[in-house]
Amino acid sequence: MSDVTSGTSQSRPLPDSVLRGYVGGSGLGTWLLYRLGTPGADPLGPAAPLAFVFSPLVGTPLTTSAKFAVVAKSPLTGMLTDALASSQFAIAGKLTGHDAIVIDGRAPELSVLLVDGGGTRLIGAAHLAGLTAAETDRQLRGELGRGWRVAAIGPAGERGIRYATISHDGRHAGRGGLGAVMGAKNLKAIAVRAATKVATADPAAVLAAAHDLRERSFGPATAKYRELGTLANLLAFNAISALPTRNFQAATFDGTAELAGDGPADVQGMRRVARNSCASCTIGCEHIYRSRGGQQARLEYENVFALGPMCGVRDPDAVLAASARCDELGLDTISAGGTIAWAMECAERGLIDAPWLRFGDPAALLRVLDEIGGLGTPLGALLAEGSRRASQIVGADSASFASHVKGLEMPGYEPRTLHSMALGLAVNARGADHNRSGAYEADLSGDLDRLDGGDAHVTAAIETEDRAAVMDSLILCKFLRGVFTDPFAEWAGLLSAVTGWDVTGEELHATARRIVMAKRVYNIREGWQPADDWLPDRLLNESLTLPSGRVAGLTADRLRAMIGSYYKMRGLDPEGRPRMPVADDLGLA
Ligand code: SF4
Repeated sequence: MSDVTSGTSQSRPLPDSVLRGYVGGSGLGTWLLYRLGTPGADPLGPAAPLAFVFSPLVGTPLTTSAKFAVVAKSPLTGMLTDALASSQFAIAGKLTGHDAIVIDGRAPELSVLLVDGGGTRLIGAAHLAGLTAAETDRQLRGELGRGWRVAAIGPAGERGIRYATISHDGRHAGRGGLGAVMGAKNLKAIAVRAATKVATADPAAVLAAAHDLRERSFGPATAKYRELGTLANLLAFNAISALPTRNFQAATFDGTAELAGDGPADVQGMRRVARNSCASCTIGCEHIYRSRGGQQARLEYENVFALGPMCGVRDPDAVLAASARCDELGLDTISAGGTIAWAMECAERGLIDAPWLRFGDPAALLRVLDEIGGLGTPLGALLAEGSRRASQIVGADSASFASHVKGLEMPGYEPRTLHSMALGLAVNARGADHNRSGAYEADLSGDLDRLDGGDAHVTAAIETEDRAAVMDSLILCKFLRGVFTDPFAEWAGLLSAVTGWDVTGEELHATARRIVMAKRVYNIREGWQPADDWLPDRLLNESLTLPSGRVAGLTADRLRAMIGSYYKMRGLDPEGRPRMPVADDLGLA
């Protein structure tokens, strides 16, 4: 634990019961936040901890395991946020010999925290002020020398923009404003250097599992990610009216073909020019695109959805440029796009004095991003707050079309046509989040009517939430999930081989439930109210007419019934709280 106010640190041992009970990554981060955070602390104040949490599997040869979690109280939601990212930083961080690096306080000047076998120390970072995360990474590694790995914030994090990211090797711990938390600690970067080696309990079993997983990762379950990347979802979601468009005013977008790089011959859209992968990954879902102007950027479904259809923009060059600009500034593309789309609707309704800010205007998209990220205009300052806070400032009825849950802007899944996902988004601890709940899988499976949510959808949402809790704590990439046929048992086998614990699938399933509950208990302590488990008004009051003629809607009664079933199946009371104090049982006390 490092106090950057005083520049001191101390190592604290973690009992095996905690490591086994919360595994690592997102789970262990939740435990650390509950235990080390000051209840009610301002997320951007010195008393709010920021935790970089490693996991049992990182550093092993298991594919997609080079990941870590960053966990803090979110400045967007006031609740727990946990973002995962992949890179050599994860491996070097784990090999500092720590399961987690927890930072609190506020450094007296802009600084870099160094962590290696010799402990921790702060160095000045005034010369890095204003640099992008990538520039900071390059410069710091040049100064520090071989072996150091860097996670840094860009200008958005320094300025406290509530949806700023933390980046490393071009990857981002993106959601919930973790970059703003780091900036509030006056930390431009954290740099780690390996000091030890990863030891596994049964090296032969780990190697055999790694070989097996590697082979499976080349199979059909991951083909979409390897061959097309997640951008393929644009066409697929558009075809089933699940692509949020113009701030959720529609669920299909007529510019989808151009944005998916699959337009008619006379439209020169974005072109795929390279494929890449995170550290220790045999899948390689990262597809690099080039615009007509020659600019290159990594594109995936979520950033294209948020800066394209959500803002009504169909110009591939503009979407690619906007995505690259978000990366330079260090902004979460989903929250940026969601907040800008809300502002575009406000401007069109005359609630914001910005007549130039219109849906579908590529120049407006790029201008408003610059206003948020660097120009410091009143509009930029307003939108830097995120859509929930900005709507409270603008007033009138603007909150009714602010597309967020708990303050976190919505990802690219239309709840009115994906009812399992509607529930997953509403009850998720992090807010509107597609990574902690994969309930859309049930909607897309064809086994359920995705327009008619009921108890089967609730069961499916719980199952995907539990699976995510374990994958995010081990940590393994979600894109590997399809290769497992008996997930909890197979994951227990991996964990046992690495740690030597005799973990079973049943135990790991119970661990998943513990982690989900611990997140809820943390949020309740920080002020969660039943009304926070809900969806934006627009999604409950406006229906969609599908090309088939069927009307897709999600009424408040339908959502309330699904949430009630969810609480019951999770053993919660009708208001979504544990029926009795559970901190002891969860090992949090
Ligand atoms: S599948 Fe994609 S996101 Fe997952 S580890 Fe590999 S490159 Fe990274």
